[in-house]
Amino acid sequence: MEYSSHHFDVIVVGAGIMGSSAAYQLAKRGQKTLLLEQFDFLHHRGSSHGESRTVRATYPEDHYCDMVMESSQSWEQAQSEIGYKVYFKAQQFDMGPSDNKSLLAVISSCEKKSLPYQVLHGQQVADRFSGRITVPESWVGVLTEVGGVIKPTKAVSMFQALAFQKGAVLRDNMEVKNIVKDEVRGGVNVVVADGEKFWGKKCVVTAGAWMSKLVKTCVIGGSRRGTRRSLPSEAIFPTFASYGEPYIYGTPSLEFPGLIKIAVHGGYPCDPDKRPWGPGISLDSMKEWIEGRFSGLVDHGEPVVTQLCMYSMTPDGDFVIDFLGGEFGKDVVIGGGFSGHGFKMAPVVGRISGGPCA
Ligand SMILES: Cc1cc2nc3c(=O)[nH]c(=O)nc-3n(C[C@H](O)[C@H](O)[C@H](O)COP(=O)(O)OP(=O)(O)OC[C@H]3O[C@@H](n4cnc5c(N)ncnc54)[C@H](O)[C@@H]3O)c2cc1C
Repeated sequence: MEYSSHHFDVIVVGAGIMGSSAAYQLAKRGQKTLLLEQFDFLHHRGSSHGESRTVRATYPEDHYCDMVMESSQSWEQAQSEIGYKVYFKAQQFDMGPSDNKSLLAVISSCEKKSLPYQVLHGQQVADRFSGRITVPESWVGVLTEVGGVIKPTKAVSMFQALAFQKGAVLRDNMEVKNIVKDEVRGGVNVVVADGEKFWGKKCVVTAGAWMSKLVKTCVIGGSRRGTRRSLPSEAIFPTFASYGEPYIYGTPSLEFPGLIKIAVHGGYPCDPDKRPWGPGISLDSMKEWIEGRFSGLVDHGEPVVTQLCMYSMTPDGDFVIDFLGGEFGKDVVIGGGFSGHGFKMAPVVGRISGGPCA
């Protein structure tokens, strides 16, 4: 087929990490790809911007462990293509009550997947981290080598640059208003706010929290809170996660010297176009957690910086990557609901969501 400037093999809607990764994978496979973004590229209104996303392979579910391990190689491959780093490796330390089901499942998943791990109890934890991290006697810790931090804005920019290098067309400030089946030629017509229309044989929709506005059958969206606290700059920390209520995770002192990012899962539904930016949920339980875990080395008073995050939540926290179906059959793939833990797996999500289109 002859292609004009408005005809593509695949149109990807949404240039967060998932759409940018999919566009790169598709262009790499020789597909004539268009990536459309409603705001400026690298904007701060979605879920893929900022300075840090944690990596861990310690999932209770085996398939996420596989996705992280494959992604880990793909991050390195993409870094070697672009010539700079977006993924900075560290150890990962998971901790929680020794009868916590998710943590126990993490241990058996490490065993099953032959992921080297160490289980540490009370004093062993304090010894391993020179007293910087401590856990109650009734808790257990799991230390693995697959952890670290990805710089999100830089990573999105990397995939967009690689996609462009491989021939993809990238257009921002293009809000997709409608995706309609082309009854004559097959494929889909993608219509943007000013009426410009593009035709694609296939379409991948990675619209984050806007998914339910564009694709009426999905309902996902919500906000969560993250915070940064001070930490002695000489401290060397792993990336970490704490199971139970509240679920807390964080990064070592990498992005801002002397500060540590500690994030708590919790929040409420929101409209991505009217999202709150001010105070979110109470941080009392997090303050208590910081006081207990970091032996007074981390100031548990007021945070230095706080930021509300917007997650696209599914009820079970699992990703949705599927054909839209109905009249679109297999022509439209949706990738959404990454539920606050998808970034690290973006290379594999890009491969899977672009897969049926190539
Ligand atoms: C603060 C925070 C901390 C997190 N921490 C971690 C972590 O430590 N580890 C981890 O693995 N994951 C983490 N996550 C999750 C991870 O960042 C997200 O799963 C991931 O960024 C989701 O990417 P996305 O591309 O699906 O969505 P988004 O980044 O929101 O991208 C969707 C894009 O689609 C565009 N769009 C929407 N509608 C349209 C339209 N109609 N037309 C054109 N464009 C449109 C939007 O403008 C947006 O740019 C965190 C998320 C947040 C917010």
